[in-house]
Amino acid sequence: MSKIIAITNQKGGVGKTTTSVNLGASLAALGKKVLLVDIDPQGNTTSGVGVNKADVVYCIYDVLINDIHPKDAMVETAIPNLKIIPATIQLAGAEIELVPTISREVRLKKSLQLVKHLFDYILIDCPPSLGILTVNSLTASDSVIIPIQCEYYALEGLSQLLNTVRLVQKHLNTTLQIEGVLLTMFDARTNLGMQVIEEVKKYFQQKVYQTIIPRNVRLSEAPSHGQSIVTYDPRSKGAEVYMELAKEVMAI
Ligand code: ADP
Ligand code: MG
Repeated sequence: MSKIIAITNQKGGVGKTTTSVNLGASLAALGKKVLLVDIDPQGNTTSGVGVNKADVVYCIYDVLINDIHPKDAMVETAIPNLKIIPATIQLAGAEIELVPTISREVRLKKSLQLVKHLFDYILIDCPPSLGILTVNSLTASDSVIIPIQCEYYALEGLSQLLNTVRLVQKHLNTTLQIEGVLLTMFDARTNLGMQVIEEVKKYFQQKVYQTIIPRNVRLSEAPSHGQSIVTYDPRSKGAEVYMELAKEVMAI
């Protein structure tokens, strides 16, 4: 059965894009058919899998605003089984352009339903806001993965995020679930990281993934080579942990 998962947290720099790219690539390496949907105007997932934005014909903007079929916006990546609907800076206008349109919150859902059967997993990389693009993503999804950085203030802003999830559940998508909470950028050398883990586990309990993503320099290098960690450095700790996470996600 196929599943649509939004990777979301309105905080920037918590590992949404790193998780989208590397969880997507790891699931694909394990034989799953995966579609990445980049819905962040920064387009970091798009460049992170080696797609040159200058070559993009149709992006997620065209799917949302111009009714382009999602199949026509899909691009192959260097990894077999991994496709992407890219984002370009054009998407920056979508927040405003969607405001007066009919059924503005369900546009992504309607589009992705057309291609859901073609994939095992569709992962949506959300922008760092709780605006209409994130609401579209939550409405289109079966569940959400929330990456939380193991830093001071880790839980700050989470109540707003959970409130948005509840509002979407109430009005737009009654079956939306929390897939899991992912601790990222853990640094074993500090006590702070451990404290954050304890706090997050107290709050989210069994929803927290066993796999914790450590700080790993190879993970931060891979995007500048337009590669996921799976091809950039398959023997790195970063590759190992995202593969573990993929297995955990598949087991649910
Ligand atoms: P977001 O999409 O939530 O804004 P990113 O995934 O882009 O966050 O991560 C923010 C920055 O941190 C990027 O430069 C990324 O390469 C780096 N980064 C993310 N996860 C790790 C990690 N586990 N180890 C080292 N650097 C990381
Ligand atoms: Mg990002």
